[in-house]
Amino acid sequence: METYKRELINVATKLKKNGLVQEGVNKGSISVRASDDAFIISPSKLDYSMLTGENLNVMKLDGTFISQPSPVSRDSYFHLGIYREYPHISAIIHTHSKYATALCLANRPIPFITVGMRFHCGGSVEIAPYAPPNSEQCNNYIIEHVKGKKAVLLQNHGLVCVGETLPDCYETTEFVESLSESYLHALLLGEVKILEGEEGRYANV
Ligand SMILES: [Zn+2]
Repeated sequence: METYKRELINVATKLKKNGLVQEGVNKGSISVRASDDAFIISPSKLDYSMLTGENLNVMKLDGTFISQPSPVSRDSYFHLGIYREYPHISAIIHTHSKYATALCLANRPIPFITVGMRFHCGGSVEIAPYAPPNSEQCNNYIIEHVKGKKAVLLQNHGLVCVGETLPDCYETTEFVESLSESYLHALLLGEVKILEGEEGRYANV
């Protein structure tokens, strides 16, 4: 349990240091599966720089808490849904990082445009339709859209990445944010080549 807590705190520190979360409470959430039936999750309204092994919440897959020293993030319930649905997923990061969120606001999925997307994202990055954050509908959209994928954009909201380990999930988060920046710039040039079929085709942008 302590090892996973340390891992979560390390990832939170890196997210902040590398500009993938903004200062303040509008930061998203991080979790890691700590056993077959429980996961550790960042609390609500606590800056990532303040996280310690003592203030992380630990939630069971039945929705109860093993320990709840801090206010519960409402994101906990979509994390719970993902862990229940997909036993191979052991880590989740949700951020409102700048470039990925820009694509969410424009309702732009990221088509398959670099080979690295196959490994880091499981292919193209789709956009889940909008529903009020933390509503049952929103949670269901997230759970549906991570099936077979490592990342999903949420329309008018932010980014959710999943992984088999927290370091892998962090890599995907960083990859998608960097790719979103490149894709946004490429869109400004007006034409983006999509890697589909043998010859590829040009996106109609
Ligand atoms: Zn959010």
